[in-house]
Amino acid sequence: MSKETIVVIGAGVIGLSTALCIQQHLTPTQSILLVARDFPSETSVNYASPWAGAHYRPVPGSSPQALREADQAQRTYEFLKRTAAAEPGTGIKFIEGVEHLEAPPPEYLDQQSVRNVYSHLDKFQILGKEEVPAGVVWGVKYGTYVINSPVYCAHLLRKFVLNGGETRQYTLANLKEAFSMAGNVKTVVNCSGSGFEDPKSFIIRGQTCLVRNPVTKTITRQNTDGSWSFCIPRPLEGGTIIGGTKEPNNWDPNPSLETRQRLLANATKWFPFTSESGGQFDVIRDIVGRRPAREGGLCIEAEQLAGDRYIVHGYGAGGRGFELSRGVAEDVVAVMLEKRLLQAKASL
Ligand SMILES: Cc1cc2nc3c(=O)[nH]c(=O)nc-3n(C[C@H](O)[C@H](O)[C@H](O)COP(=O)(O)OP(=O)(O)OC[C@H]3O[C@@H](n4cnc5c(N)ncnc54)[C@H](O)[C@@H]3O)c2cc1C
Repeated sequence: MSKETIVVIGAGVIGLSTALCIQQHLTPTQSILLVARDFPSETSVNYASPWAGAHYRPVPGSSPQALREADQAQRTYEFLKRTAAAEPGTGIKFIEGVEHLEAPPPEYLDQQSVRNVYSHLDKFQILGKEEVPAGVVWGVKYGTYVINSPVYCAHLLRKFVLNGGETRQYTLANLKEAFSMAGNVKTVVNCSGSGFEDPKSFIIRGQTCLVRNPVTKTITRQNTDGSWSFCIPRPLEGGTIIGGTKEPNNWDPNPSLETRQRLLANATKWFPFTSESGGQFDVIRDIVGRRPAREGGLCIEAEQLAGDRYIVHGYGAGGRGFELSRGVAEDVVAVMLEKRLLQAKASL
């Protein structure tokens, strides 16, 4: 009998993180193949990962999704802290994060909710009235990370290949086709972002603008009209992301000039860009990406098919794929261990 091949679909941050976690548990009779339409060297509006800012900003709340994500985010924070310290070229940097909210939703005013998601952060501090700009009702600062998303994804892919993982660029027509990608496939791991026609999946369009102007911290401002503005410096001289829009079910692939002007005008008002730019932005490009969201949050579960074959799902990270990536990968692997599709082993 040939070796069993585990097929992971997707080379976004979720598929790559999951594939690396799976590699820690492979037995000598198992191998792993990553199949994807898009890899980190390319860009497509339907491939969310290279477009992400990306920063970590906790989200308070008490729904099952909010609680699950808070746990995944905290594990990811600790993992990325270890990674940044051990491997400086991975595109992760720990810096100060600031939030200024003009009309905080109720969960931000509930001290327990706030403590649940923020208190694990280094140097977390609630800002007093005198420390926040005019109009801001709720403010915090803390130690967070920013990620140069294409660099980090390329790092994950390189690590996967160095660990012996194989890759194939291929567009699958459906999930079942993945079982034909190698000779003996019993398990397919679905990290395709939108999950292959799951009726609960939807996209959230995001438009941001990448500029050369540097900034030293990541700041998020929520405006009274419900819109959000943020600046995210990308490590390793990757410029700064100025954001951004969140537009559910908007399929427009083209950047809007009007949106760019609004984002940059807000950034001039609120973010401390250094004075040598004279208030002008040096724009590298507009960005439009589709966040792969899902009602109720990520789907992480095993689906059994005839013949003792399994599809293990891990998709629907919405706007938080980087922040949740390691936690999601661990949770997908936990499902695989529970179903005995992998063997428990100490982490390498
Ligand atoms: C503008 C913007 C800003 C963002 N900012 C942040 C942020 O600050 N922090 C944060 O954590 N997240 C942020 N995100 C969200 C983040 O980008 C996503 O949550 C994350 O990239 C999702 O990763 P994924 O691996 O699930 O999906 P994707 O990155 O979309 O990857 C899906 C993979 O599946 C493959 N695939 C899909 N269908 C098929 C098929 N039929 N056959 C073969 N392969 C297939 C694709 O080719 C790809 O390799 C942002 C997103 C956008 C657009």
